[in-house]
Amino acid sequence: MKEYPTFVTHLECSYTGKVYQADKLHGLSEDGKPLLVKYDLEKLSESVTKESLNTRLPEFWRYREFLPVRKSENIVRLGEIMTPLLPATNLQQEWGSGEILIKDEGRLPTGSFKARGLALAVAMAKELGVERMAMPTNGNAGAALAAYCSRAGIETFVFCPDDTPKVNVDEISFLGAKTFLANGFINDCGRVVGEGKVQMNWFDTSTLKEPYRIEGKKTMGLELAEQLNWEMPDVIIYPTGGGTGLIGMWKAFDELEQIGWIGSERPRMVAVQAEGCAPIVKAFNEGNRHAEPWKNAETIAAGIRVPAAVGDFLILDAVRESDGFAVSVSDGEINSAHRECALKEGVLLCPEGAATLAALKKELTSGRIKRNEQVILFNCATGLKYPMQTSHNFINLQEPVNYDWIEGSL
Ligand SMILES: *Cc1c(COP(=O)(O)O)cnc(C)c1O
Repeated sequence: MKEYPTFVTHLECSYTGKVYQADKLHGLSEDGKPLLVKYDLEKLSESVTKESLNTRLPEFWRYREFLPVRKSENIVRLGEIMTPLLPATNLQQEWGSGEILIKDEGRLPTGSFKARGLALAVAMAKELGVERMAMPTNGNAGAALAAYCSRAGIETFVFCPDDTPKVNVDEISFLGAKTFLANGFINDCGRVVGEGKVQMNWFDTSTLKEPYRIEGKKTMGLELAEQLNWEMPDVIIYPTGGGTGLIGMWKAFDELEQIGWIGSERPRMVAVQAEGCAPIVKAFNEGNRHAEPWKNAETIAAGIRVPAAVGDFLILDAVRESDGFAVSVSDGEINSAHRECALKEGVLLCPEGAATLAALKKELTSGRIKRNEQVILFNCATGLKYPMQTSHNFINLQEPVNYDWIEGSL
């Protein structure tokens, strides 16, 4: 495998700026906040150009210089393709909006963008000699962890709320994780992982509690910028749970500006949550930098059912600095956007992706999103993992087929 130069200099507490050594195993900072990976961007910019990317494979490892893995042999590959930007032309016309592009992340390994973060987390774990990993999950993160760890030969323990959809639990277990259902929410499962660290000697891979999942999600920002020919879109609508993707993209844009690949313009970052679990929206509306834990979280969009996010201030800072906003949508609005996109665009979203479409529809009406703005929606997972409301009829082939009835039915 080709070796690339790497540029990580150190890690930094996202809250206090305190410096931590690179190439060592880290969880949260001493202040209990996420650590961010820092690079020598000047040297980086001398070793890679926009043009040099053109000759590389269409996968997110093409951004190697922007990533922390030192040795290519530690990379675990399952086909980390660049995901397409699908124009939603029919909806755009009907709603009279600017260009709508759906970034379809459901095509990544294990069917969700969690593969970006976990591919990096597992590569770094391998590089730093980790033999056991654990995490709480609402489904997709656990599946990605299980897949990359099985391939890397790392043992995994995954803890899910007991109402996690069966298909996700089956996927996690089938891919080789020791899988546990618990009668609580994702943060309760997170407590099981955190409190078990000493006795079980596992590495806590919870969202933002290790530094590298953000770096993986950062590739969404790099990829988006490259796909848009290094022009920023006007608005990015992101379904926000732990916020890794939003924080990662914001970090990507900052690094790209520092090396002069983009200017100082930024998309407005819009964080979407479900009405039944909207801690970030509440904090945004109340002008707070931190979000209070949400009680009795409930929504069909399991990926954004996150009552408390360690990186709350990073999400809120990015949303505010970008002149964006946070908005919640109801499960009803999610369901109807889900169906509308399937019928009018032929795109099977996941409910979290549908939440971004529902938010767009709402905010075109409210005027917070203008009708000339180019909007990127994130579809984070394949719609095939989720229940779909369908209707079909039965024909008895022992009798003559009645086409009049077929014509009139459904
Ligand atoms: C994890 C997940 C999200 C939320 O992503 P974050 O970056 O953690 O906020 C949204 N949708 C789906 C399908 C997910 O799996």
